[in-house]
Amino acid sequence: MSPPRHQLIQSTHTTTQQAVETSRQTFRSGHTRPLKFRRHQLEQLWRLLDENADLLCEALFKDLRKHRNEAYLGELVPSKEEVNDALKHLDEWAKDEKVTPALINRVGVTCLKRKEPKGSTLIIAPWNYPVFLTVGPLVGAIAAGCTAVIKPSEVAPHTAKLLTELFSRYLDSRAYIVINGAAHETTKLLEGKWDHIFYTGNGMVAKIIMKAAAQHLTSLTLELGGKSPVFIDENANMTVAAKRVAFGKTFNTGQTCVAPDYVLVTPKAEQKFIAALKKAFTELYGSNPQKSADYGRIINHRHFHRLSKVLDENKSGEVVIGGQSDEQDLYIAPTVIANVDRDDKLMEDELFGPLLPMIRVADVDDAIEYINSRDEPLALYVFSTNKKLVNKVMDSTRSGGILVNDTLMHVAEGNLPFGGTGPSGMGSYHGKRSFDAFTHERSTMIKDLSPAAEAVMAVRYAPYNNTNLTL
Ligand code: NAD
Repeated sequence: MSPPRHQLIQSTHTTTQQAVETSRQTFRSGHTRPLKFRRHQLEQLWRLLDENADLLCEALFKDLRKHRNEAYLGELVPSKEEVNDALKHLDEWAKDEKVTPALINRVGVTCLKRKEPKGSTLIIAPWNYPVFLTVGPLVGAIAAGCTAVIKPSEVAPHTAKLLTELFSRYLDSRAYIVINGAAHETTKLLEGKWDHIFYTGNGMVAKIIMKAAAQHLTSLTLELGGKSPVFIDENANMTVAAKRVAFGKTFNTGQTCVAPDYVLVTPKAEQKFIAALKKAFTELYGSNPQKSADYGRIINHRHFHRLSKVLDENKSGEVVIGGQSDEQDLYIAPTVIANVDRDDKLMEDELFGPLLPMIRVADVDDAIEYINSRDEPLALYVFSTNKKLVNKVMDSTRSGGILVNDTLMHVAEGNLPFGGTGPSGMGSYHGKRSFDAFTHERSTMIKDLSPAAEAVMAVRYAPYNNTNLTL
């Protein structure tokens, strides 16, 4: 008896080079183009998520000590929503879009935007939301009719292993191939020729990806990070603002690309906000968050040391909340450092953990100036009921997204594009944008050869007989 097809195919994809070639060949064969095929693969992806929710939660717990509710809210629910959205709108997204032709082409001409799959694509995922940030882009690739080689993050090994097994079991293994590994394997993959690369991760590696893509002039989506600021206006409801900032800072233990990185606050609001934050953290995780089943852990020792070092080397400010850590347990308490200098260590790189520096600003103009003196962040948060102030911040800053009076939740909106600008990323996805990221809109003009059409065209042919066209 011969083994099931996916096993045979899995065993043939032992090298990155074979994966690159299989992906190209499968795409060229037209296998992934029919809508029926795409729909079936999306349905399979939905089943994968549905039938293996417990296993996925278990793997996420092992990698990040992610609470089941966080796994559902941050990974499984948004992944399923992306699949549902694509299934619901696939026909509409994929159909040719008619365009009204210009005057000169008005007779006997059809103009279309054909939605064509970009081709053979590479998806490189990070470790912090290892399910959603792998499945999300994959939904776009499948819906658009592309093939994809998927490189999960080696930093979340339990989830990477499980996804490898599940993808090969549920999806067509000729079209969607998983390659595991770290920088070495990814470098090998990047030597191949791709039609699009979708990378989520840090900006340093993004530069490596961009250089590799330049060799083949491959298009890119780069979903990166940055230091996302929060401005707290004096008139904001401090209790609600603090609860929402505390939530954004500790969901996934602060290891979220859009986590509030630092707070800008006026001296007048500072003490009220700190008091409200203290209360908020206690409400969320009790007096000792290490004992709370709801509070996660730092992904590994390397990141634990990175965060500890940055806290130790910071020369200014005062730890007003938290500060405790336990290396054995990879635990760092939600930690707030008040009155930090603008150029201190904590303000250099994205923190990506439960540390929250606070900087004093004179007023909103001072806050805007500071935000604008730095790289464009992935998210910007403003807490205020003053519409004029909010509009001022919106009009005079730049960021991937902006959210007024909350944190993180804009990412859950499938109809809003999600992506950065400048160093926080390039391109966007979620909902139809995921389909668009993997789609080439092919300009298509179809003319007839009728005498009527030719008569209109006559104007372009020489001899022009000394007639001058005017506008
Ligand atoms: P990571 O270490 O898992 O790296 C991401 C991917 O890059 C992995 O698959 C890894 O194998 C690969 N990689 C690592 N080094 C490489 C190299 N030298 N050459 C080629 N490939 C390499 O994840 P990370 O970068 O630590 O992720 C955290 C960062 O990602 C943060 O900056 C965060 O803000 C950002 N992020 C952005 C989003 C978003 O949607 N915009 C989402 C999550 C994380």
